[in-house]
Amino acid sequence: MAPSKVLAGARVVLPTGTVDDGRVVVDGTRIADTAPPQAEVVDLSGHWVVPGFVDLHNHGGGGASFAGGTAEEILKGVETHRRHGTTTVVASAVTGELDFLARHAGMLAELAQQGDIVGIHFEGPFISPCRKGAHDEQLLRHPDPAEVRKLIDAAHGHAKMMTLATELPGGLDSVRLLVEHGVIAAVGHTDATYEQTVQAIDAGARVATHLFNAMPPVGHRAPGPITALLEDERITVELINDGTHLHPAALQLAFHHAGAARVAFITDAMDAAGFGDGRYLLGPLEVEVADGVARLVEGGSIAGSTLTLDRAFKRAVTVDRLPVGDVVAAISANPARLLGLDDRIGSLEPGKDADLVVLDDAFDLVGVMRQGSWVVDPHLG
Ligand SMILES: [Zn+2]
Repeated sequence: MAPSKVLAGARVVLPTGTVDDGRVVVDGTRIADTAPPQAEVVDLSGHWVVPGFVDLHNHGGGGASFAGGTAEEILKGVETHRRHGTTTVVASAVTGELDFLARHAGMLAELAQQGDIVGIHFEGPFISPCRKGAHDEQLLRHPDPAEVRKLIDAAHGHAKMMTLATELPGGLDSVRLLVEHGVIAAVGHTDATYEQTVQAIDAGARVATHLFNAMPPVGHRAPGPITALLEDERITVELINDGTHLHPAALQLAFHHAGAARVAFITDAMDAAGFGDGRYLLGPLEVEVADGVARLVEGGSIAGSTLTLDRAFKRAVTVDRLPVGDVVAAISANPARLLGLDDRIGSLEPGKDADLVVLDDAFDLVGVMRQGSWVVDPHLG
């Protein structure tokens, strides 16, 4: 068990607000109320301590893919994102053959069982060919509840979310099935109208998969899915804040309209995150990454991001000028709550896992702790 520590002197972001010269007591793997005798004191003055990041939508990193590959490779990707502050990650699969997806889900379920990932997000194959993004069109299918059920079963209780185009035949029944099994239904890669999206939300959909991306834009006579998803209190909207997927004004619009409590920052990262430019595979499709922007070799569609959540955090505070508390909500507390894990993670409170990130005064990451152990040791004494 990790020795006890007192992280002292930092600006600590708590659910109740930011405390200057605050302290976080870590006892073993958890945050504690009071420091045991002989706890090591770590002086973090001049730094911020924020909750560890929770990524709902992530396809890989460090050269490794969550959408394929071996357990060893997937763990490498998990470790890469951990070093960038993501202490909890949902592994996202992409469109593939149903049998392949079921087999792959079985393997991801073992990693979830061990606590390496927190669950599985199926992005496809039940999405719209009109808004397929970087998914293989040949393999897209209508959302058949029996097939949805097959994937849920293959994940052995670790399916957390499924993105689907709810306007397709079988869409609403599939949403209801997901809800019945405790899996979050997410509206995305969709060509739905405003009215169809309202129906999906009423059927139980609760997340907008990367709002704005892979869905029709807002029109004044056709307000589309974006308007329906933003206006409904029941929906959490995912945003990819990498400066490429969204115009900064679109991000502001979502924050103003939904409010900070309904936004979740995600990476939608692919293998190149935390790795570098070059050629990669996203599922079965070839992707070229240049200057950190991932595009399909064929057609040039944006194909996931190379974002890590530490960069999304810094950008949100320094470029978008969002209050630090709102950014913490969007990057930790809200996704933790959505996953039903807010009794364990998502905020710095006694009894919860000691998952936290240390940032310097320029909001660059200098330390990451997961379950009481440093993943990145800030070495500040
Ligand atoms: Zn994705």
